[in-house]
Amino acid sequence: MNQHTRFNLPICLAVEDDALFHTDEIVKCYIPDIIGQKTIVVSEQFLIDLYNEKISEISRDFGNAEIISISNASFDEAVAIAKKICIEDIKVIIGVGGGRVLDTAKYAAHISKAVYICIPTSLSNDSLASPFSVLETEGKARKTIPCKIPTAIIVDTNMIASAPVGQTLSGIGDTIAKHTALYDWKLSASKTSSKVDDFAYALSRMSYDSVYHCDEKDLKSRVFIRILSRALVMGGLAMEIAGSSRPCSGSEHLFAHAIEEYYPQIKISHGIAVAMGSIPACIFQGQSPDGLINFFRHYGLDFNPADYGIDKDMFEDMWLKAREVRKGRITILSELKNDRTQLDEIYDMMNRMV
Ligand SMILES: [Zn+2]
Repeated sequence: MNQHTRFNLPICLAVEDDALFHTDEIVKCYIPDIIGQKTIVVSEQFLIDLYNEKISEISRDFGNAEIISISNASFDEAVAIAKKICIEDIKVIIGVGGGRVLDTAKYAAHISKAVYICIPTSLSNDSLASPFSVLETEGKARKTIPCKIPTAIIVDTNMIASAPVGQTLSGIGDTIAKHTALYDWKLSASKTSSKVDDFAYALSRMSYDSVYHCDEKDLKSRVFIRILSRALVMGGLAMEIAGSSRPCSGSEHLFAHAIEEYYPQIKISHGIAVAMGSIPACIFQGQSPDGLINFFRHYGLDFNPADYGIDKDMFEDMWLKAREVRKGRITILSELKNDRTQLDEIYDMMNRMV
């Protein structure tokens, strides 16, 4: 990875109750001439139905902006939207949705150079403000492609509070995983000529600390939603500043990628998979996993592989595959031999602890 010296930051991060009823007023404070610019809203059909009132209001506020529904988060669909933006002189794209919608809108904005306003409907992972889009490509697995981060991020706390709790738990898992990711990043820097960017490191550490040490335990409270929103955005900014995903992604993410690529039948969200991976990663790194385990138990985040249909053989194979999924990425896994006995013990312990 090249030493990276330029980065962008969003100009607006608003976390408010019913923010979607006055998105235009919020954005106008930061980009005064935005109203009147040709705009499109990108979402998914079930969200357009579910949040009909709010999404229609956004469309009206932005000059009766056309509302487009995406069907799958594919590279082709993102490019088709970018093409439309360029041909029709559209200047602003507003993405309202979860990871699929936001990754598609983010990439479409990146290629077309439109202003991108990101409105998450759930807080399930830190990709909302990250400089990457994960898109499906024809005949291949999903691909992570570098792109520009959002110009503005608007979080409607009522919308997040009404999202399924599992999605918020996933966002918590992705945030807590920074603990082992940061260890791996330092380890990698000590083994190569690459450097840890101190500011990106500090942002990612603060993101982790703000959730790990949070006194508010009610996932649906405004206070918690505010803290988690900021933590996820800080994670995205840490990646933008570092010019890589390293501040937020270590061996625990390699484990999650191995599940996604080799065991697609296992139904587990990204954030829960990385949370599950962070406990063994902690142990491999010689750190005690007790703090993380207690934290996950407190919030009711189930990290037991057996509960997701992962047996001992699969668990061992996932950790083996984790070594191969991102070639060239140095983590604690590069330092260790695969130890079946240790993995069996960790598996049993995770089963007992939930
Ligand atoms: Zn992640």
